[in-house]
Amino acid sequence: MGRLSYVKKWWKMKDKQFSFEITGKIPDSLGRAGIIRTPHGDIETPTFVVVGTYGEVRFLSPAQFHSLGVQAMISNGFHLSKISDEIEQSGGLSQYSGYNCPTITDSGGFQVMSFGSGLGKVISMDKRNIAREQFKAKNKHRLARVTDEGVYFKIKEWEDEKLFTPEYSMEFQAKIGADIIMAFDELTNIGDSRQYNEEAINRTHRWAIRCLDKHQKLTHERKDKPYQALFAVLQGAHYQDLREKAAHELGAMDFDGYGLGGAFEKEHLSDILFWSNSILPESKPRHLLGLSKPDDIFVGVENGCDTFDCVAPTREARHGKVYTLDGDINLRNAEFADDPSPLFEGCHCPSCKSHHSRGEIRKLLKNTEGKKTAKQIMSDKQLAMELITIHNVFFIINLTKQIRQSILEENFFNFRDDWLKRYYP
Ligand SMILES: [Zn+2]
Repeated sequence: MGRLSYVKKWWKMKDKQFSFEITGKIPDSLGRAGIIRTPHGDIETPTFVVVGTYGEVRFLSPAQFHSLGVQAMISNGFHLSKISDEIEQSGGLSQYSGYNCPTITDSGGFQVMSFGSGLGKVISMDKRNIAREQFKAKNKHRLARVTDEGVYFKIKEWEDEKLFTPEYSMEFQAKIGADIIMAFDELTNIGDSRQYNEEAINRTHRWAIRCLDKHQKLTHERKDKPYQALFAVLQGAHYQDLREKAAHELGAMDFDGYGLGGAFEKEHLSDILFWSNSILPESKPRHLLGLSKPDDIFVGVENGCDTFDCVAPTREARHGKVYTLDGDINLRNAEFADDPSPLFEGCHCPSCKSHHSRGEIRKLLKNTEGKKTAKQIMSDKQLAMELITIHNVFFIINLTKQIRQSILEENFFNFRDDWLKRYYP
């Protein structure tokens, strides 16, 4: 097939299976509500995407997943790369997960670059700082090094080095088969010099070209399978000119959407998102990687981000942290020992409607009785974690649903101010 008809066919496939429609806007800002259409279903935005690191969310069954209003899941590309054949045989990540929903994978870049730090288990941006600092500190024993070709890494000190390239990232993400996949980027952090950040975004740009090229070939090869949208990831730390350069360069390329990456200091978040999103094409969706604090979500939405992900709501649930409209509480604290109220009064989630009280869930979590068998302790603890996970996921999904509604009703700023006033008094 000639190059032209090949490109034409690729475009046709893209248009049919992946699109983004803006259905409402926040006046005088970059914020919007919309619908991302993927081969495995629509995602109404803004919304929170749950993190299923290994292809499922702990303590969240497929039935619960849908009843809570969750629309999509993001998984760790590197971890799933080891079982990508198995996932491909099961029909792709959507089927493999059992959730049958739109899915996203990251490029695996964060994972390979954080080897040696011991912190490589999460996608969350807020951990990126620590990862970078750690492998900087242990420079002599660094298990990952970045070159133009890709990242050389080893998991254990005595192992042979392996090379992780942009092309390899595209290959295993194609096998995993998520609806949205990410181009391979070099993450940096606030501890890195300006010069290093400049090198890194230039390298990320060169890698983006290679990812796009490989993705087009793979799309052609797997044309009997659902189309995968490719997002580029923007870096550039807190430097305005670097963020703008990344947005100009990557925004002019044929990506289906964009991921906003980097280690964000809270005070720079709205500026960074504004610089990037005011340049990126308005017609393409934007995913803010690794943040889910309510104030960050409001800032993200106002500045033009459509989807969000973070391990915090589910990970914190397993440690007893419960989200409420009056601020978060921790059930491990003694003050909740005899509290007869539900996790949050007035919450409509299945856990709060099941009549388990705070005091009861605390007992399940902490084993305060002292007469239980080891097996009983474990199953009680798991029940407590499940109840809180369901509540926290519902809480954050419901928040983004209400934000979406407020945009459609042209009431975003009032809703935001009232909500934040109560949560952070
Ligand atoms: Zn609840």
